[in-house]
Amino acid sequence: MHGDLPVRGPGRPQKNVLVFENLCHSCGGCFEICPENAVLEKERSLGDIEHGTVNGISFIHGRLSIGQVMVPPIIKKIRSYTDPNMITLIDAPPGTSCPVIAAMNKADFILLVTEPTPFGLHDLKLAVETVRILGIPCGLVINRVGIGNDAVNQYAKKENIPVLMEIPFDKKIAQIYSRGEMIVDKMPEYKNKFLDLFKKDRDPRWKKGRQEMRELVILSGKGGTGKTSITAAFASLAENMVLCDADVDAADLHLILNPDFKETMEFKGGHEAVINPDLCTQCGRCMEVCRFGAVKDSFEIDPIDCEGCGVCVDLCPEKAIDFPQTVSGQWYISGTRFGPMVHARLGIAQENSGKLVSLIRTEAKKLAAKNNRDLILTDGPPGIGCPVIASIGQATAILIVAEPTVSGLHDMERVGRLARHFNIPAMVCINKYDLNPEQTEAIEALAQKAGITVVGRITFDPAFTGAMIQAKTIFEFNHTSQAGKEVRQIWDRVLALPAFNAPVTQILNHI
Ligand code: SF4
Ligand code: SF4
Repeated sequence: MHGDLPVRGPGRPQKNVLVFENLCHSCGGCFEICPENAVLEKERSLGDIEHGTVNGISFIHGRLSIGQVMVPPIIKKIRSYTDPNMITLIDAPPGTSCPVIAAMNKADFILLVTEPTPFGLHDLKLAVETVRILGIPCGLVINRVGIGNDAVNQYAKKENIPVLMEIPFDKKIAQIYSRGEMIVDKMPEYKNKFLDLFKKDRDPRWKKGRQEMRELVILSGKGGTGKTSITAAFASLAENMVLCDADVDAADLHLILNPDFKETMEFKGGHEAVINPDLCTQCGRCMEVCRFGAVKDSFEIDPIDCEGCGVCVDLCPEKAIDFPQTVSGQWYISGTRFGPMVHARLGIAQENSGKLVSLIRTEAKKLAAKNNRDLILTDGPPGIGCPVIASIGQATAILIVAEPTVSGLHDMERVGRLARHFNIPAMVCINKYDLNPEQTEAIEALAQKAGITVVGRITFDPAFTGAMIQAKTIFEFNHTSQAGKEVRQIWDRVLALPAFNAPVTQILNHI
């Protein structure tokens, strides 16, 4: 059973809120932030788990119920039954999606298996990127050697991935497999090869190079608190880092960092309904079912009002509505004077900023893994909505930049609650604290009560505005300013915090 399914609660009889159970990922975000507490939770069954023994070896597997899409919870449940004192072999799903991550997360070693073909090489590259994001050591087995070329070997050499075993392309092996038999039973010469492989992937030499990637997300309950200026200042202090501007609705880190755009990619975040007038009989069904009033009297769809829900597409009796993907924005990989940066721009009136935030955070991790950088500094979006939830999942820690105002206190409390819900360590610093010392104390007291670590105060200093106008960090603008000194102290405290120095295996709990 899997919990946390948000469902419609009582209290709003005039409005129907649709919850698509199969799409709900049980993140609990709506449950947490609904101001009316109108979201209830109930358990639902996702599938079955079976357990048995074969020749003294314990065996566990799961089966997802038909129509269910939530694979990670069932994988996590299966893994929860394994005995930590025994060696566990996990047969992971293919690909690089969430189920694969759920299967690999916290493993001691990943054995990648591929074949020496262009498809094998392509899939291997994706798998290696994923493994590097997780920071788990890996080795490679090349199966069906002889059917393709040497490109997989060359790639492995270039990427420093040990090839632990090669299995030749052999019809006899394929026949054994087709009968459901095991190669080690039918071809005894393979027994020792597999034993060797097993010894090798436990060899500490292959476990070198484990990367402990950290991500600090800087957040504020609302815009204008100085969050971006503080992120830019941190960027100038951090070493071996990748920057990620996740404030995709109003990105402005680039204004200070003046990035050199190296790659530009389209973000396709949703769909838009388009009526084909040649097929439309003007029956009016789409107008009736569209809850967003997006179908005009002229039987055209207003792209601004269309939420891309697809209901009209499904219900049009003439199949007269196309549903193309829309380009909702761009994302970029750039160079800055402090290190590489991943950033994005959501198109005007476009939805799905949460998706775009997730995308650029993933790309920032890939970039960090590729360049052996072990820190990501993410400038998060303001507020506590969907983009913020997307910006903190799996983060190592968050830093809330609060202002000493009544709303600053309220905002910090809400962001802190969100962090607690996702089990992410939270810190707070108070910017412009001397504008209202009493409110500063109130924020610090509340933070302590809520388990949020107070890492410092920053004086109200016009140097921040001066720096922003000149597209500089506070240190570049005035390296002796009081505010600059305080930012430096906060940075040192962030780096010293035990939560921020937790091992990577603890960081990745939230997949
Ligand atoms: S439901 Fe289909 S056929 Fe009917 S008005 Fe809409 S687009 Fe036209
Ligand atoms: S896709 Fe959804 S929002 Fe867009 S026109 Fe159709 S029913 Fe309305």
